[in-house]
Amino acid sequence: MIETVNASREVRGRLAPSPTGYLHLGNAWAFLMAWWAARQAGGRVLLRLEDIDPQRSRTEYALAIMEDLRWLGMDWDEGPVLASGGDCGLQEQGERGPYIQSRCMLFYAQALQQLEHLGCIYPCFCTRKELRALAGAPHVDDMGAPYPGTCRHLSESQRAAMRQSGRRASLRFHGPSEPISFNDVVQGQQCFRLDDCGGDFAVQRSDGVIAYQLAVAVDDGRMGVNQVVRGRDILPSTPRQIALLRLLGYEIPTYAHVPLLCDAEGERLAKRHNSLALRSLRAEGVPPERIVGLLAWLAGANPDRREASAAGVTASFRLDRLPRRDCRLDGSLMDWLRHGAPSGEATYE
Ligand code: GLU
Repeated sequence: MIETVNASREVRGRLAPSPTGYLHLGNAWAFLMAWWAARQAGGRVLLRLEDIDPQRSRTEYALAIMEDLRWLGMDWDEGPVLASGGDCGLQEQGERGPYIQSRCMLFYAQALQQLEHLGCIYPCFCTRKELRALAGAPHVDDMGAPYPGTCRHLSESQRAAMRQSGRRASLRFHGPSEPISFNDVVQGQQCFRLDDCGGDFAVQRSDGVIAYQLAVAVDDGRMGVNQVVRGRDILPSTPRQIALLRLLGYEIPTYAHVPLLCDAEGERLAKRHNSLALRSLRAEGVPPERIVGLLAWLAGANPDRREASAAGVTASFRLDRLPRRDCRLDGSLMDWLRHGAPSGEATYE
C-alpha cells in the first residue's frame, strides 16, 4: 500500500537535530533541503531537539545549533526559541509541544503503554555483547546487531529469573511480518520487512532511556509532521517508524531520504570533521551565503554556483530532481567555499 499525504493539507516539515555536537556541512545540507521542501510548499517548519540520550546531549550544543541554523538563514514556526533576557533556558512556541524530547517523557510512556496493550512489546535481557557474539560480527552498523528473537517467547517465570539474577530489561517491539511499503520522493518505491532490517528493535533501553525509533515516531505523529526530509542513512529506520506510527494511530508522513554529503575520500561527513563545522567556517570568515550557494549548487538548485540566501533558493529547489547518489566535496569545491570565486569572477547576484 502506498500512503501519501492529502495534498490539500498544510505541509508540516521538521528539522530534528540531536544536540550532541556542533552542526557541520553535512547537517546543513540535509536541513536546508528539509527547510526548502517545506517552505516551497508554503508549509510550516518545526524545530525539534532530539536530546533523548542524556549522556550525549548538551544544552550548549542545542543553543549553538539554533544559532547556526539562524545564521544560515533558516527559521522555524514552532519549536524552541532562545529566551530573551538574562535567562538562557529554552522556551518553546507552538501548540504541539513540547518540541524538546527530554520534556516529552509522558508521551513516550503513554505510547509504550499503548503498545503493551496491543501485545507487541516484550522485555529483552540480552546484553549488547551477547548480541554481537550471536551476530558473529565484531562491530555492528547504526541499526545495532540484528536481533534473533531470543527473549520473545520467555515465560513469566523465566523473565522473573532473569530479573532475579540482576539483569535489566530493555523493551523490544515485535512488529508485523508483512512487508511495509512507501514511496520515497528521492529514493523511489521502497518495500521492507522488519525482519530484514534488524528484526525486533528496542523501544526503550535497559537503562530506561527511550530509543530513537519510538521517540521519533511519537513526536512526528503527535506534532502532525506530514513531510520528513532527512539523510538516506536513516532510510532503514523508516519502516520501523511507519510500523509504530500505524499502531499508535497516526498519519504516515511522506518521506524523502536525501543523498549524503561526503568528503573528498567519499566518507560521509560527521561530527569528527571539525574543520567543516559551521562554527569553524564562520570563524574563518566564510559567509553563510557561500555555504548555502554551494549546497544549493550540489542540490541542482543553483546552476551558476552563486552565493545565495536560503530563502532565495527556495523557488528553484526540486526535491524530486535530486540525485540519488551521494555528493562529494572535493578539493576545488572546498577551495571555492573557503575563498570564493577567483578575483574578477562575480558571485553575488
Ligand atoms: N536526530 C536525528 C539526527 O540528528 C535525525 C532524526 C530524524 O530526522 O528522524 O541524526
